[in-house]
Amino acid sequence: MRVVILGPPGSGKGTRARIIGRLYGVPVITTGDLLREAVAEGTERGLEAKGYMDRGELVPDEIVVALMEERLALPDCEDGFILDGFPRNLSQAEALDQMLAEKRTGLDHVLNVVVDAKTIIGRLSLRRSCPSCGAVYHLKDKPPERDDLCDECGSELIQRSDDRPEIIRHRLEVHEEKTHPLLDRYRKVGLIREISGDLPIDEIPEAIRRALGNSN
Ligand code: ADP
Repeated sequence: MRVVILGPPGSGKGTRARIIGRLYGVPVITTGDLLREAVAEGTERGLEAKGYMDRGELVPDEIVVALMEERLALPDCEDGFILDGFPRNLSQAEALDQMLAEKRTGLDHVLNVVVDAKTIIGRLSLRRSCPSCGAVYHLKDKPPERDDLCDECGSELIQRSDDRPEIIRHRLEVHEEKTHPLLDRYRKVGLIREISGDLPIDEIPEAIRRALGNSN
């Protein structure tokens, strides 16, 4: 199953992507994590991407598309994947179509996570992430068992540098301007399914099954 998940920052996109990965046995490819890894490793791409990320701007398409081409060519993607954070604008969507057409395949679903703006700001400012394994917590709704430590791998949790209020606001504007238009594009070809960004965690698997069906 080949799925793209769309939704504003803080919509619960990443949590849903991980659950889909588990339910359907496909790898979750998170562009933001791939970019943060490149930054941490100090690669040429990472060095170039960092400034854009700190400002809440989109990283240039050449960098992101090259990263995705390499990732999607790995053998674990052969039977499917879930893309979280890509495509993020129309030209990336075209690049993705082309990559998949070359492999004689295409997307099965585009899952749109629907949530209102007030919920988003509250969520992102209380979000804490694990820099080692990518697990995500919320100090109020999903706190780690031990303060500041990841339940899954024990690493110290961090607040992402772009989860500050002024940068959050800018990321939302960028999403509205650049990513929102993708909904129309995918709606026209009948790929959009919707899921609420406001469900309790234990109701999410059922909602995903309803939206995407049972098959692989
Ligand atoms: P969020 O969805 O919460 O904004 P992400 O972790 O997906 O966070 O992305 C963090 C940052 O990484 C973005 O603000 C942007 O700078 C960069 N980024 C992630 N995905 C892309 C992409 N597909 N194209 C360009 N930049 C991207």
